[in-house]
Amino acid sequence: MKTKHLDSKALEAFENQLKGELVTPDSDRYDMFRRVYNGMIDKKPALIVRCQNIADVLYSLEFGKIHNIPIAIRAGGHNAAGLGVADQSIVIDLSLMNGIQVDLKFNTVRVEAGCLLGDIDHALDPFGKAFPTGIFSTTGISGLTLGGGFGHLSRAYGLTIDSLLEADIVLADGRLITVDEHNFPDLFWAIQGGGGNFGIVTSYLFELHPAGKIQGGPMLWHMEEAKHIMPFYRDFILKAPKEIYCYFAFLTIPPVAIFPENLHLKKMCGLVWCNLGSTIKSNAALERFRSFKTPALDYVEIMPYVQLQSLFDALYPSGLQWYWKAAFLKDLSQEAISQNIIHANRLPTPHSTVHFYPVNGACHDKKNSDSAWGNRDANWSQVIVGVDPDPTNNPKITHWARSYWEAIHPYSLGGGYINFMMDEGQDQIKASYRDNYTRLQKIKQKYDPKNLFRINQNIKP
Ligand SMILES: Cc1cc2nc3c(=O)[nH]c(=O)nc-3n(C[C@H](O)[C@H](O)[C@H](O)COP(=O)(O)OP(=O)(O)OC[C@H]3O[C@@H](n4cnc5c(N)ncnc54)[C@H](O)[C@@H]3O)c2cc1C
Repeated sequence: MKTKHLDSKALEAFENQLKGELVTPDSDRYDMFRRVYNGMIDKKPALIVRCQNIADVLYSLEFGKIHNIPIAIRAGGHNAAGLGVADQSIVIDLSLMNGIQVDLKFNTVRVEAGCLLGDIDHALDPFGKAFPTGIFSTTGISGLTLGGGFGHLSRAYGLTIDSLLEADIVLADGRLITVDEHNFPDLFWAIQGGGGNFGIVTSYLFELHPAGKIQGGPMLWHMEEAKHIMPFYRDFILKAPKEIYCYFAFLTIPPVAIFPENLHLKKMCGLVWCNLGSTIKSNAALERFRSFKTPALDYVEIMPYVQLQSLFDALYPSGLQWYWKAAFLKDLSQEAISQNIIHANRLPTPHSTVHFYPVNGACHDKKNSDSAWGNRDANWSQVIVGVDPDPTNNPKITHWARSYWEAIHPYSLGGGYINFMMDEGQDQIKASYRDNYTRLQKIKQKYDPKNLFRINQNIKP
């Protein structure tokens, strides 16, 4: 086994310490394990450690520190900017640490850091329970939670971090600690949106909520209707009851059998619903839209929550090229709507899309200063993604996403959701944390003064 710049004896001793697998650039599986979800990211780490347990995490951290190798932490590998991997780094890959323990007595679930959302949905489905996570089952719980997290249940139950009760973290100095609102409360505050800046989280304890059956799925209109549907949606969702959820999207209908052939490759706008609770209330909400403008496609039905959670996975397999831009919006003025429609009409490729996730309802039960996630006054988290299988289209999808973002930026709160951002530099990170940035910096200084954990949307100590 040979790895550039590293003493082979030290490497062998390190490998012997591990219960998990050490993957080096010489190994056959190196290319497979250095890959992340975003195919645009092509990084070549020095080492990848596929950790089996916390001891492996501790040994890896120690090895990285002794040999002065940058530490990258990878869980689900879904990060927009591919921040689970970096050139010449040691990747602490947590994906094999995916145990889940449901505790019905205390109405909680403990999940290890490598779990994907689909693992958690599967474990909780038999009990009709859930907590808010994201809308693709292939996303990692770790990166999502540390960035804040939101999805279909967020108007009812808040952000993912609002259900977080406790986390186990390995700190830069090698200590393993448990944080909650009483123990290390500063750190507990910081990991609720502050990303992977403060340590390596090895497990999370979440509070559970009722989920079970929901009324959900897509309801779409032709693009020409966007000028009517978008303001109607804005007015509706700002006042809708918490258990009613729908995000707004611009998209192109994929040419696959589940969609009517006459709609294939048509640019459209629409809503994806996930209504909890009473069907009467849910039907009333759906009927308001149906009677306002008859949808061109209406696939809303009663289904298990778990089914909705993986409904769109197959449309976005791992390895596509993704260029992301993000914004938080408080309002959607007529001018902002017009700008959005102009740019949505130019969706550059069939996979490219724009979503407006509502982050009102229960997300507004807390204040900006209650957690590191400093955008509680936003009503939507907008994501603009240029996506395509073909890398030669990267300039096209990148240019479109950037120019779209520039056009809507004046109507936004300034920053964006850190989990929807590429590597955009300090100004955009500061704009995203707003008034919480200085407090985050102080906590970073206390727990990671040398900025060991810097391969992330970095808060400089
Ligand atoms: C298709 C798709 C759909 C998405 N949908 C949603 C959505 O509905 N809602 C939403 O909120 N977000 C969504 N996201 C964004 C998602 O939250 C981020 O991509 C998130 O970073 C993914 O987490 P991960 O564990 O998969 O990522 P990784 O790439 O493994 O890690 C992401 C970042 O977190 C750090 N990190 C990961 N694990 C740890 C840990 N245990 N300790 C310390 N640091 C760690 C990494 O160093 C890295 O900086 C989506 C992303 C994609 C690609």
